[in-house]
Amino acid sequence: MLAEIKGLNEECGIFGIWGHENAAQLTYYGLHSLQHRGQEGAGIIVADQGTLQGHKGLGLVTEVFHNDTLQALNGAAAIGHVRYSTAGGGGYENVQPLLFRSQTGSIALAHNGNLTNAIDLKLQLEAQGSIFQTTSDTEVLAHLIRRSQAPTFKEQVKEALSYVEGAFAFLLLTEKELYIALDPHGFRPLSIGRLGDAYVVASETCAFDVIGATYEREVEPGELIIISGEGMRSERFAPMRPRSICSMEYIYFARPDSNVDGINIHTARKNLGKRLALEAPAEADIVTGVPDSSISAAIGYAEATGIPYELGLIKNRYVGRTFIQPSQSLREQGVKMKLSPVRGVVAGKRVVMVDDSIVRGTTSRRIVAMLREAGATEVHVRISAPPIMHPCFYGIDTSTREELIASKYTVEEIRQIIGADSLAFLSQEGLLEAIGRPDHLPLRGQCLACFTGNYPTNVSRARLPFTAVK
Ligand code: SF4
Repeated sequence: MLAEIKGLNEECGIFGIWGHENAAQLTYYGLHSLQHRGQEGAGIIVADQGTLQGHKGLGLVTEVFHNDTLQALNGAAAIGHVRYSTAGGGGYENVQPLLFRSQTGSIALAHNGNLTNAIDLKLQLEAQGSIFQTTSDTEVLAHLIRRSQAPTFKEQVKEALSYVEGAFAFLLLTEKELYIALDPHGFRPLSIGRLGDAYVVASETCAFDVIGATYEREVEPGELIIISGEGMRSERFAPMRPRSICSMEYIYFARPDSNVDGINIHTARKNLGKRLALEAPAEADIVTGVPDSSISAAIGYAEATGIPYELGLIKNRYVGRTFIQPSQSLREQGVKMKLSPVRGVVAGKRVVMVDDSIVRGTTSRRIVAMLREAGATEVHVRISAPPIMHPCFYGIDTSTREELIASKYTVEEIRQIIGADSLAFLSQEGLLEAIGRPDHLPLRGQCLACFTGNYPTNVSRARLPFTAVK
């Protein structure tokens, strides 16, 4: 599905490298492959001969960085970030990595996720005299590190990490070391790889492929990895809890060529489509997927039912950030600019339209109408995930509860609202079994909170990261 028209967005992507003379350029390529995780801003900080320096800006990676900016970033270690403006809102000052300078040394921070106790911590820190430069959650960690009385920098980092709650994958670069940390539940994916003698870390393994690095392993929940001139060492800042990796990474966010915990995303989505076909078959002539993220599930659905897969919808790839958003009266036209039905394929056909989620329902309604206008005689909507009924506090913009159509209406009512001939969602069991993570873990180590309302952490005082920007 098209995130920008659907209201379902990832928070961020992070990339880091240690021990390579072209650190900034490789980070640029890594970030480019993670662009789907955030398009609002991008930044790179390098460690160069005892100092940290960087460049960041609003826009796509290719808009923010040019040859001359990259060539000015010398050094053998770097961290980078692509941002979707969420917690704290947009604006240049919130583009990461954030850089903090002090007499005792500088630190750069890049974060993917959402800290559920950030407001409480900020209030406490401000009461103790801290002044925040940004409205981003991430800055909280820097203040906690600076205020720690622990004897070593590593112990200060560990102490700071023990105070923050929620979902976080952090990269922290100093002049001498690269720190990598994943929250004790492991909500977000984070992998370690090697490129020759260099170490690399990224939100998704597709970033390794693009620079020719080899995958080594996942960062474990509660693990703190420290990379320096002496190599890599692993410690813990918190006991490992049962993993709760975000199910939406498999369903929707991650790139099809990435592997999360050893499971290829395209394969997982195809299996979701196959399972959906078993649970909710349809009498139809063709199966089509809503590009890009639903195509794999549609192929799986087609394979399992024997109904041919066809390219019934195409996405206009050249709708950039500067696309003039339509006014309310031109919204229908706006969706058509981004997505078009292939009239010659769907006309006169009974169509199964596979999608990965329904958030507010407005986009599904428009696509169903579009297929009918193009001549489809029937439109059967199949969703390769359970209904999203609860908001996410862990860094995914799934809207507020009031905006989620499945929190207010039954499946039959949603069918009527979106104008489909039939509608079915995948079951929770189907989701877990089709993705196929280890079955000895509770919920196979997945977070299902936006489907079930059972949050793996205490969110009673958490606020939604996204309401600030809407
Ligand atoms: S609540 Fe949903 S979107 Fe958020 S981390 Fe859990 S599975 Fe992912």
